[in-house]
Amino acid sequence: MAELNVKRFLTALKNMGIDSYVSSKEHIPTLHLLQKTVKQCRRCSLADTRKNVVFGEGNSKARLVFIGEAPGEEEDIQGRPFVGRAGKLLDQMIERIGLRREEVYICNVLKCRPPSNRDPEPDEAEACKEYLLSQLDIISPKIICTLGRHAYNTLLGVDKSITKVRGTLTQYKNTKLLPTYHPSFLLRSAGRMKEALEDMDTLKQLLRE
Ligand code: URA
Repeated sequence: MAELNVKRFLTALKNMGIDSYVSSKEHIPTLHLLQKTVKQCRRCSLADTRKNVVFGEGNSKARLVFIGEAPGEEEDIQGRPFVGRAGKLLDQMIERIGLRREEVYICNVLKCRPPSNRDPEPDEAEACKEYLLSQLDIISPKIICTLGRHAYNTLLGVDKSITKVRGTLTQYKNTKLLPTYHPSFLLRSAGRMKEALEDMDTLKQLLRE
């Protein structure tokens, strides 16, 4: 990880009031330490209704990171991202790239389930954003794939329609970012699957470069 990223992460932890992690022997921030912090999070009211914090999972050195919206019911129960119906579809999309789920990293904008799976509120996304940015800093992937409009808009600080931006390669800082449809949307709109598969093929190509 670049030195700049380490500094940002340490500052983020400090801002969260976590000096003890920063003064660890080797001064190396890890996903594990961040996860410990996020598990205690009470930054917004979702902390009152969640069963589990869904931090994210996968390869901490992944070249490809997928970012979804927020945990659903099954994810809340298991404390793992994308383990319900949408998760099964995401697994198939990952297979299309020629990868296994364990080889990528999967996380969400929100780490806690919004009641009845409603959309994230702007203040919830804002409260959680720092965790997502720290995850990306630590993993430092080659490519980010955002799933649906919330991940794209939150990460880039914009307000765009996913149908307009999907498949258009852009950047988050120095990292390539490819937005695609959210698997839950694809389950409802099978006609859009062709475009999503094209995006998986683009990801496969980008990973080869
Ligand atoms: N939808 C998401 O956005 N994230 C999950 O983890 C599951 C469903």
